[in-house]
Amino acid sequence: MADPDPMPARSPGRGLSIGRRLFYTHLLVALIVALALGAHLHWAAEQELRQALEARLVDNARLAAKSLARTGEAEPHDADWPTAVAALTEGNPGLRRVVVVAGSAEARIVLADSAGPGSAISLPPMGRLDAPALIRSPGSAFNAAAPLPGGQRVLLLAIATEDIDSKLQALRTDSAISFVIAVVLALAMSAWLAQSARGILRRFSARFADIADGRLDSRLELATDDEFAELARALNDMSERLAKSQREREQSAVELAVARDRLEAMVGERTAELERLNLQHRSEIEQRCRLEAALAEAAATDTMTRLLNRRGVTEALGHAADQAQRQRGRLVVVICDIDHFKQINDRHGHAVGDQAIVALGRRLKASLQPHEVAGRWGGEEFLLLWPGLSLDAAEARCNALREEIAGRPLIDGATPVTVSFGLAEYIPPEPPDRCVLRADRALYQAKDEGRNRVRVGR
Ligand code: GH3
Ligand code: MG
Ligand code: MG
Repeated sequence: MADPDPMPARSPGRGLSIGRRLFYTHLLVALIVALALGAHLHWAAEQELRQALEARLVDNARLAAKSLARTGEAEPHDADWPTAVAALTEGNPGLRRVVVVAGSAEARIVLADSAGPGSAISLPPMGRLDAPALIRSPGSAFNAAAPLPGGQRVLLLAIATEDIDSKLQALRTDSAISFVIAVVLALAMSAWLAQSARGILRRFSARFADIADGRLDSRLELATDDEFAELARALNDMSERLAKSQREREQSAVELAVARDRLEAMVGERTAELERLNLQHRSEIEQRCRLEAALAEAAATDTMTRLLNRRGVTEALGHAADQAQRQRGRLVVVICDIDHFKQINDRHGHAVGDQAIVALGRRLKASLQPHEVAGRWGGEEFLLLWPGLSLDAAEARCNALREEIAGRPLIDGATPVTVSFGLAEYIPPEPPDRCVLRADRALYQAKDEGRNRVRVGR
């Protein structure tokens, strides 16, 4: 496939190309020089020829006059002139016509005419003639004249000038041919100059296109040693510098990529390490939270009954009292205590006493609604929180519990125990321990009044 022309096409109306401009200006200069030189040479040669012709005419006129003068002796007779003229023309084929005239400028008499007597003759205007001279009268049949001895006689000559004319003609033809050759040469040289300039510019364009496409390694070598070669060297230098900076850029890009990969690997490692530490930290926090929750639960839990201990139940009482106050709800606080528990310890031992405490706790817990709380208040005393109940309903429920406990032994096979209850309603905004105090007093009242009973503190 042929390479596309690297010189972009110019849009019309943007002027002539450099090639055409070079062609036309060179052609114009060559034509002007050829014309001027040719015209000058032609003019000079023509002048030389004319001067030679004039000199020859004058010379011929002198010679003819001299020859006639010899023929006619020192003082020829007018009748002798035709013979002398005939003899003269006979011996000189270059003399076309010879005429001898006599008389003044106003009235001339033809004494002899080589064309024969009676031939038509038109005499040129002539003044006084002292020496041979040219006849410059246009349309005259004669081109030279010379005075003859004897005064008042003039020799008129028509001398052949064909050779001179043919030389002039040849000179004109040569000049025309030279001019045509000069034009052809000028055309050829202009075309060659334009073509070579265009060729070099095309190579520059191709090289620039290569550089634009990133092909920087090739060089533009010109056989000449002129400004174009200088420009090509500058272009090659620029291309080399571009190639070098491109290589450096590529090298930097590779180094940058390596550094980036290394950095990414480091960041990855660091991120993995941080994630691992984060996970570890989170798991430690979770473990700590679980531990703290377990500790908090342990701190609030009674190890024997697994119910809330006094601390836990006091906290629950605070929350329940807050809630009752905020929601304008009701809250009944119940304290229950096993009757004559010391006797159980005393009769059956502390272990059995413990079992009884645990069994009562389990039974109280089983009696609770989901939102209710039971906790060990101390020894064999338990505290219950019953939100949302009226005192009467709570009292009825305590009695039911009391009967249920009294009716079924806490430990299988043992004698059933009885339990006394003291209860009170929380009255906002009193401190919760005041309500507990009322319930405790009611419990004492139940004990005082014989035990296994329920009393309400108001
Ligand atoms: P009352 O009817 O008046 O309540 O008489 P009581 O014997 O139950 O007297 P009180 O409630 O004052 O005595 C509680 C006894 O419970 C005192 C103590 O020796 C015993 N006790 C306290 N805590 C425990 C415990 O954890 N285990 C055992 N086995 N006995 C305990
Ligand atoms: Mg007791
Ligand atoms: Mg007690």
